[in-house]
Amino acid sequence: MSDAPDVGELSPPNRTLMGPGPSDVHPRVLRAMSTPLVGHLDPSFVELMDEVQELLRYTFRTDNEWTIPVSGTGSAAMEAAIGNVVEPGDTMLVPTNGYFGGRMAEMAERAGGDVVEVDAPWGEPLDPDDVAAAFDAHDVDVFGFVHAETSTGVLQPEVPALTSIAHDHDALVIADTVTSIGGVELRVDEWDVDVAYAGPQKCLSCPPGASPLTLNDEAMEKVLNREADARSWYLDLSLLEGYWGEERAYHHTAPITNVYAIREALRLVAEEDIEERWARHRRVAGALKAGLEAMGLEMNAPEEYWLPSLNAVRVPDGVDDGEVIDYLLDAYDLEIASGLGDLEGDIWRIGCMGYSANPKNVSLVVSALGDALARQGVDVDVGAAVEATARELEQ
Ligand SMILES: *Cc1c(COP(=O)(O)O)cnc(C)c1O
Repeated sequence: MSDAPDVGELSPPNRTLMGPGPSDVHPRVLRAMSTPLVGHLDPSFVELMDEVQELLRYTFRTDNEWTIPVSGTGSAAMEAAIGNVVEPGDTMLVPTNGYFGGRMAEMAERAGGDVVEVDAPWGEPLDPDDVAAAFDAHDVDVFGFVHAETSTGVLQPEVPALTSIAHDHDALVIADTVTSIGGVELRVDEWDVDVAYAGPQKCLSCPPGASPLTLNDEAMEKVLNREADARSWYLDLSLLEGYWGEERAYHHTAPITNVYAIREALRLVAEEDIEERWARHRRVAGALKAGLEAMGLEMNAPEEYWLPSLNAVRVPDGVDDGEVIDYLLDAYDLEIASGLGDLEGDIWRIGCMGYSANPKNVSLVVSALGDALARQGVDVDVGAAVEATARELEQ
């Protein structure tokens, strides 16, 4: 008898991904991932690296030379940003209005920083006055904020107001743009964001594995002049500079296939045009929102902070959020997600990201969710909801 495990052929279910990421991957990206490998220093790959960097600059709306895909998921780009920019003894100001601000704080502490907080309730954005007050109260070196809070479905408005407060106090700004890049308006240079990190598997509709990061010259200067080395060798930007900068020398083997994937995903962004892509997300997610509201559901975020790429919907009284999620997965192969942290049990999180942000998917979400709620005894007018979505999509 062989002791080799008897594992069947891979056959994942054919889901429609409308959760907080990953989103559905464009077939062209999947095809790019099945092309042959080359070496990470192959002349053809070196050329491809330049192309990826150029496409990333376009998508971030930046001219920053220091724009690269970091090996790993969004959290790797996040840790590369925080772990390099925050030096031991630095003070980092972070928000408390969502799950990912908390992760920023944890990473800043591990980098040897002292963390101070600016508060806002979960489900609301930061108020610039509160940020200014925090800067008056503390000697802040680095200010982090989350542009699109995936845990609450809130878009941070007035980004230039936040960055100008930080710069008046000589602090650098790190923005979490994981759920905004390629989905909602994001202008790194115009908004004076010093460092932005992102992820590939949300509005770029690319599998996780290589994650966008950009730093301006001022931020990179701080990184290159650190007294102590960054604590992570793998994510040390002064070493990664050798590979992604002029020299193109080995540091670690780039995830070749993931770099192919993000190149193709970013090519799709450029073909569509970035501003048109932002408009599509608003249009398609707007149709989703219209359908949900016509069904009698309530969005968690007020209209001014609505985040098209992540729609947080309040769970009606008496409905079990988990049962609805399970039913959608079983009956429709449709993934949506529950709330996190302070909002656990109170909301569903419905993504509308990248390739998933299309009329077919949002129409499916509206009718399937209507069915699920009707089965739980909620009095919903599914017909009116489907019609409201269709009407919005026609515009
Ligand atoms: C998903 C996400 C992250 C983390 O990305 P991973 O790819 O899961 O590591 C960070 N910030 C925000 C806002 C996110 O939505």
